[in-house]
Amino acid sequence: MYGERVEGESPGSCCQPAPGGEACTGERPPLPAACPACGGRLKEVAAAHVLHHLRRPREREVAGRYGFCPAAGCPLVYAGADGRRFAVSDLRQPPAYKTGNPADLLCYCFDVDGREVLSPAGDAAVAFISERVRAGDCACDVLNPSAGCCLGSIGTYRKAAGAGPGPSAP
Ligand SMILES: [Zn+2]
Repeated sequence: MYGERVEGESPGSCCQPAPGGEACTGERPPLPAACPACGGRLKEVAAAHVLHHLRRPREREVAGRYGFCPAAGCPLVYAGADGRRFAVSDLRQPPAYKTGNPADLLCYCFDVDGREVLSPAGDAAVAFISERVRAGDCACDVLNPSAGCCLGSIGTYRKAAGAGPGPSAP
């Protein structure tokens, strides 16, 4: 016969990820007030989200809360409340606006990269993404390193490249 389990002594037992992505509500060390690399605003994401996007072996270091830096060109992606930092090179698939490489992804749900949104097919790609988002078919909260909708970053990316809606220069 096995003895009873000792409740309350297993570390991290309160941290089962819930469908909403919320974890513990216990003591929470504060996130950095701003991106330590560029000084921009950080968007809070869950540790589980960070885990989904890091290459090994860095994924083993993930714990606690993180802020995502959405700034284009900034090499920092996630900054932890515990001081851990994860950069573009730590991501499995860093976004095009971070790497500066148009071959990298912008829309992680429907496989749209920087080249496509800057090409003459860009409007159609954005229209397709918008349509699927409206239909509730996107999974940005999990698939996108930002944990948010890609449409905002695509608009910013096109604007920065001088390619708005409509035909763009080659
Ligand atoms: Zn930054």
